[in-house]
Amino acid sequence: MAKIVVALGGNALGSTPQEQKDAVAFTAESIVSLVEEGHEIILGHGNGPQVGMINLAFESSASNGEGTPEMPFPECGAMSQGYIGYHLQNAIQKKLAARGIEKSAATVITQVLVSEEDEAFQKPTKPVGSFYSKKEADKLEQEKGYNMIEDAGRGYRRVVPSPIPLDIVEKKLIKKLVDDGDIVIACGGGGIPVIRKNGGFEGVPAVIDKDFACETLAELVEADVFLILTAVDKVAINFGTDEEEWLSELDLETAKKYCQEGHFAAGSMLPKVRAAMNFVEETGGRALITSLEKAAQALAGKDGTVIKK
Ligand code: ADP
Ligand code: MG
Repeated sequence: MAKIVVALGGNALGSTPQEQKDAVAFTAESIVSLVEEGHEIILGHGNGPQVGMINLAFESSASNGEGTPEMPFPECGAMSQGYIGYHLQNAIQKKLAARGIEKSAATVITQVLVSEEDEAFQKPTKPVGSFYSKKEADKLEQEKGYNMIEDAGRGYRRVVPSPIPLDIVEKKLIKKLVDDGDIVIACGGGGIPVIRKNGGFEGVPAVIDKDFACETLAELVEADVFLILTAVDKVAINFGTDEEEWLSELDLETAKKYCQEGHFAAGSMLPKVRAAMNFVEETGGRALITSLEKAAQALAGKDGTVIKK
């Protein structure tokens, strides 16, 4: 039996509400199988398409003069945590009941502490929301102080910083729920980024990488295993080329070398390998990168890529 923090990727969720419900039913089946084997599960997940959809809906409705208020980005993130968490906990509860497992599942709306001094705030990189013309983009920069960039010939988009996670505000509560034997969904979309302000916390428009946030979560709950589930069964070197080679094992030294050689795409596989390396370095635990389908096999050491000392 192990305490496992699972980071779910976009493919575990789908895009539309119905798609998400269907995808999550499959996700819940795998997760509850792990619970049935006696593992303690803490779930984190991405929110790219979902927070994009929520943000876009508010932006277009507000600009159509439909009377919808402008919705700040941290609030959009909170909504996406609630929306995805609802589907996940609902589907997991159903599978638990079907197998006669007396456990509960709940979502913790999670705030993740970042530093105002993080250099990411000097250089926003993460595109969010709608596409605009040059003229509209200039206006948004002036009126709202947004950072706008040209996005691959498709128009102008707002970019927000991607700071590193330092701490999880709700960590004690998450731990308590885990210790009680319940299944916790936390750090959705990397968490709502907050900074310390006026004796409390205040949301900032930024996006924390969900793989890094889940790694922080794994450290804080003292997980034995950090399990990153994505669209591929294993990590590869020379990915997508004739020399492609799928890896079963990756030690820290070799991983570092492969990162430097550019084998892992920035924004997709690189943060996963980096987060896995951090977990192994900091805790001595086991980190695995694999797909939802191969999760159980990977835990048994029969599939996936294991990152170890
Ligand atoms: P998620 O939503 O799970 O975070 P991403 O799309 O961000 O998924 O990252 C996973 C994707 O990274 C894989 O589906 C694969 O296409 C891509 N990828 C890039 N480099 C590699 C690599 N070296 N090995 C395996 N997959 C890679
Ligand atoms: Mg990703």
